[in-house]
Amino acid sequence: MDRTLAIIKPDAVERRLTGRILERIEAEGFQIRAMRMVRMTKREAEGFYAVHRDRPFFQSLTTFMSSGPTVVLVLEAPDAVRKWRELMGATNPAQAAEGTIRRTFATSVERNATHGSDGPETAAFELAYFFRGLELTGE
Ligand code: UDP
Ligand code: MG
Repeated sequence: MDRTLAIIKPDAVERRLTGRILERIEAEGFQIRAMRMVRMTKREAEGFYAVHRDRPFFQSLTTFMSSGPTVVLVLEAPDAVRKWRELMGATNPAQAAEGTIRRTFATSVERNATHGSDGPETAAFELAYFFRGLELTGE
């Protein structure tokens, strides 16, 4: 079994899409291992996205991610990292496959409804950013 970090971003929470996204996650076979609502500060969003600090979209992205509450989740499944990214679809919803979460719910490349870790090392960093070991021990 493999774990990944998912975030339902402020655009989707604001538009009351949380329930539909959670339903989709469970229907696709992920086990939700931990879940919490988090309103990130700008600094917390900057820390989370530190790998992107030199990208032109960094300021706008971290302002957006700290603009309202998010739902952070630990998802478990075989090959969870790849499987969750496949279910989300491409970063730009215009390029995301039909039926993916971003194609269905995103409104722009920035306001793209969900986040997913992009590899096992990133997943380890991102899980630890939001969840303590004790919250993750329920096997
Ligand atoms: N993003 C953006 N403009 C871009 C690329 C990315 O606003 O040109 C935002 C978008 O919200 C994306 C996040 O920055 O989800 C992180 O970018 P990344 O390339 O890691 O995409 P992801 O892994 O989320 O698909
Ligand atoms: Mg990424």
